[in-house]
Amino acid sequence: MKELTDKIIKFRDERKWEQFQSTKDLLIGLSIEVAELQEIFLWNKENDSVNVEEVKHELADIFIFLVYISEKYKIDLEKAVEEKIEIHKLHYPVKKSKGKNTKYNKLNDDKND
Ligand SMILES: [Mg+2]
Repeated sequence: MKELTDKIIKFRDERKWEQFQSTKDLLIGLSIEVAELQEIFLWNKENDSVNVEEVKHELADIFIFLVYISEKYKIDLEKAVEEKIEIHKLHYPVKKSKGKNTKYNKLNDDKND
């Protein structure tokens, strides 16, 4: 992960693009990349085929923006994801959440336990 994020930052720094990367612009860029990913699926039915190459490239664009935002705030994105998985494990114990799409704060209200 570190090698990959270093490569992304190096790519940016070689081009002196950090000067254009305000938080606002990074967030707008991230939103645009998410919209580009959504556009691939727009009007598709659930079983319609998609161009996986396009999906792959948009996911990569999204990841690159996440790396830029993380780097700006000195957040270790890999650690952040690991922390979040642990939080999710607490919120969604397998016993209560398996096969359910109920939000964690409503899991205890589920009468089908
Ligand atoms: Mg894109």
